[in-house]
Amino acid sequence: MPQVQKPKQTPPLPPLIREVKLIDRYSRSNFPDDLRFREYLKTRLNMPREQTDLIVKETTDEVWSQIDCVACANCCKTLSIEVDAKDITKLAARLHISMAQFKTNYCEVLPDKTVVLKSRPCVFLADDGKCKVYEDRPRACMDYPYLAEPHFVARSISMVENCRCCPIVFNVWQQLKVKLGFRGVVGKAGPKK
Ligand code: SF4
Ligand code: SF4
Repeated sequence: MPQVQKPKQTPPLPPLIREVKLIDRYSRSNFPDDLRFREYLKTRLNMPREQTDLIVKETTDEVWSQIDCVACANCCKTLSIEVDAKDITKLAARLHISMAQFKTNYCEVLPDKTVVLKSRPCVFLADDGKCKVYEDRPRACMDYPYLAEPHFVARSISMVENCRCCPIVFNVWQQLKVKLGFRGVVGKAGPKK
C-alpha cells in the first residue's frame, strides 16, 4: 500500500498586537530579524511578483479589518506629512485661505526642499482621533501605509521602517514571515510583565 503523505502544516500566525508602545519595542528588538526577512524576500523567495502582491493584499485586508485607525492615529501623531501643490490647493480652498497663507501657517520646507505639514501631531488631527480635513487630506495620508501598491518586495525596506509606527504594517509583516515561508520567524521579543 503506498504511503500517504501528510499535508504540510502551516505554522500558526502570530497573535495580532495593537498597542503602539509594545509594537515600537518589538520592532526595535526584531530589527535584525526584519532585515533578514527583507533579504529573504529579495534573494530567496521564489514566487512571481503578482502572487506575492496578492498575498500581501489579502493579509493587509485581514489585518486592517481588525485594527481601528481612529483609535490608533499614530501616523498622524508622529510622521512628517509631505504635501505637494495639489494637496496645498485643496487644503487652502477648504480653509478659505490662499495657498501662500496655507504654506506660511501650516507648512515647513525641509533642507532637501520637501514641503511637509509643520506640526506633529498633525494640526488637523482632532481630539477624538479623526482627521478634520479627511476628504481633502494629503495624498500621502491617503496612501499610507503603502501596503496596497504593487512591487511590495522592491519597497520592503520602507516596511521595515514603518513597522515601528504602524500596527497594520507591523502585523502584516509578522504574518508574511509565516505565510511566505521565512525561517526563524517570530520576533525574539516577548511581552515583558
Ligand atoms: S495607518 Fe497605521 S499608524 Fe496610521 S492610524 Fe492606521 S494603524 Fe495607526
Ligand atoms: S491631514 Fe489628517 S490624515 Fe493626514 S496626518 Fe493630518 S490628521 Fe492625519
